[in-house]
Amino acid sequence: MRVIVRRKLSGHLFGIFLCLVGFAVLFMVLWKAWPNVSSSNALSSLWSYILTEQIDLALIGTLKLAYLSIIGGIFLFLGIFVLAFSRQILYLHGGSIRLQCPYCNNSWKARRAMGWAECPHCRKFIQPQVMKKGI
Ligand SMILES: [Zn+2]
Repeated sequence: MRVIVRRKLSGHLFGIFLCLVGFAVLFMVLWKAWPNVSSSNALSSLWSYILTEQIDLALIGTLKLAYLSIIGGIFLFLGIFVLAFSRQILYLHGGSIRLQCPYCNNSWKARRAMGWAECPHCRKFIQPQVMKKGI
């Protein structure tokens, strides 16, 4: 179970990281564009500035602000997707159940209900009964 929890957590952190990168990139675009935007028609002039202007990035070179905002949007979208996906993994693997052997009445933990299984106590091939849902 510990392995699954760790993978789940790293997926969660990765999603948050992607979201943060996306936010940072979009914020950088806004930060660059905002002083050049006229206050009278803010949205359309901001949009035209983003579409035409370029930004100098030391590592990558010059990039159009439009591409940069698209990249930021993609990161943000990926982050949300990863977050949603890791939450789904959490849902799928979150709980385990206890199965009970009808012969020896011993119970054991399992991730899912099984139609047929070998009892780990008496080694008989049995139809285990679900006792309860638990951790
Ligand atoms: Zn048994």
